[in-house]
Amino acid sequence: MLLLAGGRVVTPGGVLSPGWIRLAGPVIDAVGSGDAPEPSAVDLRGQWVLPGFVDLHVHGGGGASFTEGTQDDARKAAAFHRARGSTSLLASLVTAPLAELQARAAMLADLADEGVIDGLHLEGPFLAPARRGAQDPRYMLAPDVAAFERLHAAARGHLRIITLAPELPGAAKVIKAATRAGVTVAVGHTDATADVTLAAVDAGATHATHLFNGMRPWHHREPGAAGALLDRDEVTCEVIADGVHLHDIAIRLAARVKGPGRLVLVSDAMAAAGMPDGRYQLGSARVTVAGGVARLLEDPGPAGPPDDPSQATPADRADDPGQAGTGAAAGAIAGSTATLADVIRHAIAAGLPVPDVAAAASTTPARVLGLADRTGALSPGLAADLVVCDDDFRPRAVMRQGRWLAAP
Ligand SMILES: [Zn+2]
Repeated sequence: MLLLAGGRVVTPGGVLSPGWIRLAGPVIDAVGSGDAPEPSAVDLRGQWVLPGFVDLHVHGGGGASFTEGTQDDARKAAAFHRARGSTSLLASLVTAPLAELQARAAMLADLADEGVIDGLHLEGPFLAPARRGAQDPRYMLAPDVAAFERLHAAARGHLRIITLAPELPGAAKVIKAATRAGVTVAVGHTDATADVTLAAVDAGATHATHLFNGMRPWHHREPGAAGALLDRDEVTCEVIADGVHLHDIAIRLAARVKGPGRLVLVSDAMAAAGMPDGRYQLGSARVTVAGGVARLLEDPGPAGPPDDPSQATPADRADDPGQAGTGAAAGAIAGSTATLADVIRHAIAAGLPVPDVAAAASTTPARVLGLADRTGALSPGLAADLVVCDDDFRPRAVMRQGRWLAAP
């Protein structure tokens, strides 16, 4: 049995400082506080031990992606994120022609069969062109149960989350079909009002894709999707807490309203995560990364409804024209270049307590995936998925199912 001792161990019951973890092969056998109960422990003094991260929203990383390229590229993207602490992750696809989405879902289902990824997230194609962000409006479709069923069948039981815009005609039927199939329905890339969003939650939607980004912003007389998703207790909310997509106040308010049991930190990483500035691809869109911020090079297709300048704040137009603004244009933010570890570090710097961050990065997303009985916390009986971080919360070692992964 392997014993890890001396570090600050973050458990659902609080931080054990020092604490120890005893492993039985791929599983956590026991967790305790104080000095190591037996000698020959791995010494983790001065380090934090967090549960392995669970990233529900990832398009790529390390120069490779899930949205295009080969199966080997997808393996490379998954390995990139695992080595940086995301011991569980979904592969997120963006809007593309239906036949292409089916083919990619089938290809990624092979990797889910192998355990390389923990399933698929479809961010599209049933999205609102008016809130398209970096997604290609040419391939956006009205929600359609037959199209959903083709995609669901292609993923062979590995489709975990589908993001859709509930104001589109047919959305309620797809929400019900997906919920019946055991697929989590997320509201996102939507221009829905608060009332329409509440109706979607009543129909079965339980998750928010990158809260605030790609949706009608909060207004006190029309709280929009953001207000409704914050308001309803059954909804878990993703936030991209990377310091680019959201102001720290938005991160803190979302954390306070939802609490760690309903907040989900995600990376929304694309291929450029961990790579130098330059040109990259996100689905059909060409993206340029400068100063670590990924933006569309050009608008990928015909415009959606024209922007109403009276509705857009200067911040919408200049700083975040795509995901936070009305409509989208060249220059829209196109995913992030952060890993979930980067997001965690930023969330802690923004003032979120470490145990709450661990819940939002591991425990809560594991529950959303239905994996809470296997991973997501440093608790006896769960998989030995853990991340050893230094004082600045930079990952120094990652263990997945009891095995150390190669350091990045
Ligand atoms: Zn995304």
